[in-house]
Amino acid sequence: MSQKQVPSEGQSPVQKPVDPEAEVEKYGFGSSWLPLMLLLPPLVYYMWICMADHQGALYLPTSGAELLGLLQRVPAPTIASVAFVVLWFGGQILLQLYAPGRWVDGTPLDDGSRLPYKMNGWAALWITLLGAGLVCWMGWVPATFLWDELGPILTTITLLSYGLSIFLYRKGRASPEKGTTGRVMYDFFIGTQLNPRIGRFDLKLFCEARPGLLLWVLINLSVAAKQWQVHHTVSTPMIAVCLFQLFYIVDYYFHEEAILSTWDVKHERFGWMLCFGDLVWVPFTYSLQAQYLLSHPRDLPTWATLGIIVLNVLGYVVFRGTNLQKHRFGRNPERPIWGKPAKFIQTARGTKLLASGFWGIARHLNYCGDLMMALAWCLTCGVSNLLPYFYILYFTWLLVHRERRDDAFCHAKYGTDWEEYRRRVPWRIFPGIY
Ligand code: NDP
Repeated sequence: MSQKQVPSEGQSPVQKPVDPEAEVEKYGFGSSWLPLMLLLPPLVYYMWICMADHQGALYLPTSGAELLGLLQRVPAPTIASVAFVVLWFGGQILLQLYAPGRWVDGTPLDDGSRLPYKMNGWAALWITLLGAGLVCWMGWVPATFLWDELGPILTTITLLSYGLSIFLYRKGRASPEKGTTGRVMYDFFIGTQLNPRIGRFDLKLFCEARPGLLLWVLINLSVAAKQWQVHHTVSTPMIAVCLFQLFYIVDYYFHEEAILSTWDVKHERFGWMLCFGDLVWVPFTYSLQAQYLLSHPRDLPTWATLGIIVLNVLGYVVFRGTNLQKHRFGRNPERPIWGKPAKFIQTARGTKLLASGFWGIARHLNYCGDLMMALAWCLTCGVSNLLPYFYILYFTWLLVHRERRDDAFCHAKYGTDWEEYRRRVPWRIFPGIY
């Protein structure tokens, strides 16, 4: 029988120290991790089949035979897809190891130490783009290769992501970290280590920031080349979506150091979820708008194009401005924000919570900006089909869920200081709405 400690009169209840990492698990994936793990891979295939075979319309099989036909559509790896994946990942590993860039220390870990990271994404981006351009220019590989082989490449990278997840699980089991649950499948899903490394090669940051993100850009460009091959035109929406997303990635590498203070890098262990997410989900679902536009090469009215550009630019300003304000404030709290001294809450832990500028409008205005850009990308596809809007629907879920987890984490970490921040800045993501 458990014994409850009742504080005697005049004695305040003993505050059990809260472990933020454990606390956040309560707001983690609950029991949804299993359906996620079972459903996400088929969903990626399903959306690719809709794009490749049904011009982006949602295809619903109406008989057993049609369902079987859908299942048979899942492609096996081909020699070309395996060769591509080996060269792609090999090339990106070499760039991570040898491309020029400086070493930067990450944010402090629980024990106060910091891990060094090589920040050479900017060089890797341009070398990759130039390399891909050269390979196509020389005629060694057609520019449409990625689109033509997308199905087999999807299968090959999916298998790779499972292989890597098993490796990560086994590696983590050899040195179990605080926070692993001992439940095999859940630990496989969420990960067993925060920063698995081979020497100084950080597996999580590499997968998070390189092969998947750069492949997303190249798939877009390959799909645009396919549109040119098939329709002898590259439509304005296709150009717009390729440029918007290329800019998003260029900007990501330009501010590469900011990755080190993101949630994934600081708090998320590296298991199947991030592995599959980084390597498969990002390149194959974030490119859905371009894939859709391939078979819909129509232009939008000028006013719509201008509206979409304005929305994307505004979203970018909010997204980047918010992230930069926090980053710069962390380095120099004296730096003025919008011409005035920064307002902040001095926490009992010794750190400061910024409470002015973008961080005085909502507690996660960066998510709002990201979602504005996501909407702009989806709108390039017009409004006649649902599938191109999958991105904004999924991304809204992801960021709302993440904000809840972050809020629980910060509450556990900062206690009443966080409550004070909530009081001062009541909106979570969308000012006036949520
Ligand atoms: P944030 O960059 O907002 O980081 C949250 C952390 O910042 C908190 O845990 C806390 O960490 C610190 N913090 C919170 N409030 C304050 C404050 N007022 N002052 C100072 N520090 C504060 O979240 P993410 O890492 O989730 O997102 C980073 C960017 O990445 C966002 O713009 C997001 O939109 C984008 N993103 C994009 C995705 C994509 O797939 N395209 C996926 C996920 C995110 P601590 O206490 O440790 O300092």
